[in-house]
Amino acid sequence: MQGDAYLKCIDPQCGLEYPIENTNVQCDKGHMLDVKYKNKPSSSLKEVFYKRRNSEGSIFNESGVWRFRDLLNFCQIDTESMEECSKYLVSLDGSEGRQSKPYHMSKAAEFLGISNDNLWLQPEGYNPSGSFKDNGMATAVTHAKMIGAKKIVCASTGNTSASAGMFAANEGMNCDVYIPAGQIAPGKLSQAYQFGAQIVEVDGNFDDALKQSLDDAQNHDGYTVNSVNPFRIEGQKTIPFRALEYLNWESPDWIVYPGGALGNTSSCGKALMELYEWGWIKKIPRIAVINSEGASTLSDLYNGKFEGEELRWNKGNPNTELISRYYDHLDKEGLRPKTKATAIQIGRPANILKGLRALEFTNGVSTTVSDSEMLDGMSVVGLNGFDCEMASGASVVGVKKLMKEEIIKKDDVVVGILTGRQKDAMIPVDYHRNPENKFAIPPKN
Ligand SMILES: [Zn+2]
Repeated sequence: MQGDAYLKCIDPQCGLEYPIENTNVQCDKGHMLDVKYKNKPSSSLKEVFYKRRNSEGSIFNESGVWRFRDLLNFCQIDTESMEECSKYLVSLDGSEGRQSKPYHMSKAAEFLGISNDNLWLQPEGYNPSGSFKDNGMATAVTHAKMIGAKKIVCASTGNTSASAGMFAANEGMNCDVYIPAGQIAPGKLSQAYQFGAQIVEVDGNFDDALKQSLDDAQNHDGYTVNSVNPFRIEGQKTIPFRALEYLNWESPDWIVYPGGALGNTSSCGKALMELYEWGWIKKIPRIAVINSEGASTLSDLYNGKFEGEELRWNKGNPNTELISRYYDHLDKEGLRPKTKATAIQIGRPANILKGLRALEFTNGVSTTVSDSEMLDGMSVVGLNGFDCEMASGASVVGVKKLMKEEIIKKDDVVVGILTGRQKDAMIPVDYHRNPENKFAIPPKN
């Protein structure tokens, strides 16, 4: 296996390659990077993954991330040797991804007008730090450990900082968290404090915080764990892996995500590209990315709402100038991303190019939903006994909207990803106190 994994620029005209120990998140020409594997994993591993669900005392089998370690083996280790696994792989005692799998939720299905058998919702909020981020943090921090990093660094609207802080504390690393001052749900920030992270407040929004964190990582020996880090994307591939495994590797018609920085879209796209290339799946599910109306960069550009051009990956030739002009337009008009769903309150999605590549490969779509729709989506998930945050509600009501537009058909099989757990206690309290809200159960006296 030695020498199997390497890094490669995603721009097909550039294609620069780097050894796996490289820590730059971009190629020398400023393009994003992919983790690549030379070997083609045999689909007989499907049985191995299934068997590992009986963990036999191994935390790396218990982990919903490392159970699939053969498909993310950038450490290039013998995946059956527990001794090697524990030397290299970073895990929160096997708990990342352990409780994540798709469920049927009949009240959500009824609300959407889809048959209960055809709708699956996968809560990622039951990860140890409360969001999907633990999937990718396990792999990013594994790479950080592999190259001997002492400090991990991230910018965060909340969930990333909680996850980074938790992993750093477990590994005895330092952790710096850059946040947009005053814009973070207090419950989310409290986790980072709790885990001993150093909070750095930045005037501006998430995009400004990310820029400053990347500068500081480069200049002060930090290791960036935001989703621009290609190793984050590797761990997040296990979200669709788990969904597909529970569906016996039979592709659904759709996989639906809320759209923020587009790390999930990118990782789902990469997972599907690899599985298809390896012959593990025959059908490619379509990805639907649901933006908030108040932070709709992808939907605007993808659907031609800016300058009338529909932005596409275009086989590796995306019109990046269109993206720059869109961002200039946001700046000039003073348009800041604005939604109560802070997890997706992002105006400049750092992974937009990888996201476009994912949408092109899967014939994907993007649309927007309002804050009040997201609250309904979040609340109907709650009525099934599952907890999710407001941004996750986008996956539910996004399906409703796309069904109304007849893009998602009534008999399509849909997997919606619920990205995080409720961390802002007042959101459901305020929702239910207002009897006008669709699923509100106001207090009685
Ligand atoms: Zn390049």
